[in-house]
Amino acid sequence: MIPFEKTYDIRELARHNLHVHTTNSGCAKPEMVLRDIVKEAERCSLRTIALTDHSNLGDENRIVSIGNARLREELKEIETDVKVLIGSEVSVYGFGKYSETEEVNDSLDFKLYSQNHYHVRFWEHPEDKSPRGYVKDMIRNLEELFRSGRADAVAHPFSGGYIKTIEDKTAVPNAFTDNELGDILTKARDADCAFEINVGPFIGMPEFSRRYFNIGKEVGVAFTLGTDAHTLDRIDTSQFVDEIIRIIG
Ligand SMILES: [Zn+2]
Ligand SMILES: [Zn+2]
Repeated sequence: MIPFEKTYDIRELARHNLHVHTTNSGCAKPEMVLRDIVKEAERCSLRTIALTDHSNLGDENRIVSIGNARLREELKEIETDVKVLIGSEVSVYGFGKYSETEEVNDSLDFKLYSQNHYHVRFWEHPEDKSPRGYVKDMIRNLEELFRSGRADAVAHPFSGGYIKTIEDKTAVPNAFTDNELGDILTKARDADCAFEINVGPFIGMPEFSRRYFNIGKEVGVAFTLGTDAHTLDRIDTSQFVDEIIRIIG
């Protein structure tokens, strides 16, 4: 479930930054401590933030159990009107393969699934390593994810940015047909799973993003907006809003 009414108004979506990393993710900067994240969210008038530290295979105890328990303790000490969801960027790294147990999944306020961290060692790759091979791999894994009911949203969807063997980072998203996009976004809608506007890849692939957003809107899937913040200066969503609005046309 997403913590707000479904909307296609980017300014509304931008009131909620649902993709923020803390120091529990090794890739986040040391400044990403909860108190300062919340302070920055207040400064830019966000209503909701979701903390989505990485859950990699075998990490579920370290990041999600220990890390999130610590965040919950810290949150008790912070007075704020910002709604703070303690979730995770969890992994669907193959067909029916998830980085976290069902119990850990149940403990999360927001379950944001990555389906394309192909640069990570444990990720499974398709036998056909062409852009079409990766398209079919993502579709198959997402369909199974929706059947499982585990996901609230899909992170940086369809991006080929993490596939080291394909140099053109738009080759994979551009290999999706409109029908395939419509079909997978419809399945997400029926499974109550949102799709993310992840500002980096969204702005980086404007032609694909326009197609993705407009097909999603047509089928009625919910969108979330996330900046994938690893630094405090990426928490403010408003800096990306005009560019996103320009792209969707
Ligand atoms: Zn990611
Ligand atoms: Zn992330």
